Amino acid sequence: MSTIIGITRSGKEYVPEFIETLDQTKCIGCGRCFKTCPRDVFDLVDRDDLDLGDFDDDDWSDDGFSDDAAMVMSLKDPMDCIGCQACFKVCPKACMTHAPQPAP
Ligand code: SF4
Ligand code: SF4
Repeated sequence: MSTIIGITRSGKEYVPEFIETLDQTKCIGCGRCFKTCPRDVFDLVDRDDLDLGDFDDDDWSDDGFSDDAAMVMSLKDPMDCIGCQACFKVCPKACMTHAPQPAP
C-alpha cells in the first residue's frame, strides 16, 4: 500500500501527516486551530451539546491562553485536511494526533 506523498516547490518529496483525532476533553476552545487551518476541517461547537465531563476551569484559567469555556473544537471535515500540521503547532493543549495516510 502506498502513502500519500507531497512535493515541494523545488520538487522534493515529503510525507504529509493528516489529522486523525482531536481530544475534546483537553480543548480550551481558543480557536487557534480554526484560524490557522487553510482548509475547512474544524468547527467550534457548544460544549453543552457534548458529554465531556466536568470542565476544569481553574486548571485552564492560569495557563496564559485565552479560552472559551462554552465552546469546544470539533472535526467538521477531516477528509479536507492537507496534512500540514499547522494546527498541531499552534494548539496550546496538544489536542490533535496526525499520521501519514494510505493513498486513495
Ligand atoms: S493538518 Fe493542516 S490542513 Fe489538516 S487540519 Fe491541521 S491545519 Fe488543517
Ligand atoms: S487550538 Fe487546541 S485548544 Fe485551541 S481550539 Fe483548537 S484544539 Fe482546542
